[in-house]
Amino acid sequence: MMALIPKKIPLQSSTLPSLLLINHKFIHCGQRPPRKSLIAMAHDEPNKACKVAVIGAGAAGLVAARELNREGHQIVLFEQTDHVAGTWVYDQETDPLELDTAHTAVHSSMYLSLRTNLPREVMGFMDYPFKVVEGRDCRRFPGHKEVALYLQDFAAEFGLLRFIRFKTQVEYVGRDPKNENQWIVRSNAQKRDVVEEVYDAVVVCNGHYTQPRVAEIPGIDKWPGKQIHSHNYRVPDPFQGQVVIVIGNAASGEDISKDVSSVAKAVHLSARSSTSEFNMREQHAGPGNISLHPMIEYACEDGAVRFQDGCSIIADTIIHCTGYSYHFPFLETEGIVSVNDNCVEPLYQHVFPPVLAPSLSFVGLPWKAIPFPLCELQSRWIAKTLSRKAHLPSEHDMIEAVRNFYVQNEAAGQPKYYIHDIGHCQFEYDDWLADQCGCAHVEDWRRNIYVANGKNKVSRPLTYRDEWEDHYWLEIALKDMS
Ligand SMILES: Cc1cc2nc3c(=O)[nH]c(=O)nc-3n(C[C@H](O)[C@H](O)[C@H](O)COP(=O)(O)OP(=O)(O)OC[C@H]3O[C@@H](n4cnc5c(N)ncnc54)[C@H](O)[C@@H]3O)c2cc1C
Repeated sequence: MMALIPKKIPLQSSTLPSLLLINHKFIHCGQRPPRKSLIAMAHDEPNKACKVAVIGAGAAGLVAARELNREGHQIVLFEQTDHVAGTWVYDQETDPLELDTAHTAVHSSMYLSLRTNLPREVMGFMDYPFKVVEGRDCRRFPGHKEVALYLQDFAAEFGLLRFIRFKTQVEYVGRDPKNENQWIVRSNAQKRDVVEEVYDAVVVCNGHYTQPRVAEIPGIDKWPGKQIHSHNYRVPDPFQGQVVIVIGNAASGEDISKDVSSVAKAVHLSARSSTSEFNMREQHAGPGNISLHPMIEYACEDGAVRFQDGCSIIADTIIHCTGYSYHFPFLETEGIVSVNDNCVEPLYQHVFPPVLAPSLSFVGLPWKAIPFPLCELQSRWIAKTLSRKAHLPSEHDMIEAVRNFYVQNEAAGQPKYYIHDIGHCQFEYDDWLADQCGCAHVEDWRRNIYVANGKNKVSRPLTYRDEWEDHYWLEIALKDMS
């Protein structure tokens, strides 16, 4: 890890950005004022506004913009599509090479039938509850369209649209050679006009459910069937009458198995853990053509696929529901930040690379957590750190903290892959963030409903979205939300 951390770099900041290049022409906006370190300025000017580039207008970018705006920072929110809400906007387009892990052009991995796997009151932001809107999808676990509408409402409510440059993709972020404590952000509007600007800070909110990770299967190169990744799964129709293998029993694997089983001849769900929540008893009460298997051992030229339990089947299609990789194709940090075994490192509290803090930050990286409130608290911490109302430890102490965290993780026998899995401590993490910002902790009802939903999902894997028993906490939540 130390190899990734170069020698100490003093932190500095300037006032406003200087526009450098428009349509490949440099435009100078005069001399920048003399600079001073951000941390030193904290003492001189406690309410200093920064010019901040936010990349992505999904849930993370929107709430980051809201928090930065509340703190008085100047924001430009870059969004490559023509809409807000990111992954929640269903796109029937898929990437042409359906298993390609290198050239994803379509951002969203949403499938048509998706309903949330968290109840709406748990999912929503803390100070903008995900309430039922009459005439829309009122279900407690609504479909993806309702979540997209909720995020659109959020953007409108907080006046965020004025900060967004739609159809503008960030293609490069790197430190300014003239002042390495600022960032050059190069973006292209409508894939045409290239603009290069200088910012005091960059907040990366580009999402991490786009870049497929696929399972390695011995013999797969010669296997004659079709393979796709869940990133490119939309509807079950193409699998009519087929024998389909679904790899992975996390949320997408379970949903897609059920979806496909409505038209397929048979679905074989291959899971790493034999203790799948999606247990056999419930499956037989459901579609009846899904069977559970351990991992795939190998695939053969004759179309057969053999599982580790010795069972072998001839299959038409394999759907890889095997997760996604963090991917920052635009980010150039001269090796300071890198992605290794899907761990974005080194990051202090999953947000700040110590050497580049607080001018570079990431929102929404942790998984197995409730994303919206987590993004809200991370964003508040970033916004307050930039305006010097919250204070980071020294760079040395952050590096030590990150190092200790990684050592502990390794000692516990956890591969790096699980660094951002905070399923075992998400509420402690949320509370820690809230404490940095001096704001309220996540509500008790949200924790209790989250736990109850987890249990309900285990006992009712097919029907948990429509049957539940957490009425007590739900009533408290609804009172609080209203
Ligand atoms: C299938 C599926 C089901 C899910 N179900 C749930 C659920 O039930 N409940 C729940 O709480 N969460 C769920 N999630 C998690 C979901 O990803 C988060 O809730 C949340 O929406 C993540 O928001 P984000 O802003 O981090 O990323 P995204 O929503 O992916 O937004 C990122 C944005 O950045 C933009 N962008 C990317 N690169 C660039 C660039 N270079 N320049 C400009 N713009 C760029 C993208 O266009 C996009 O708009 C699910 C995710 C998936 C994929």
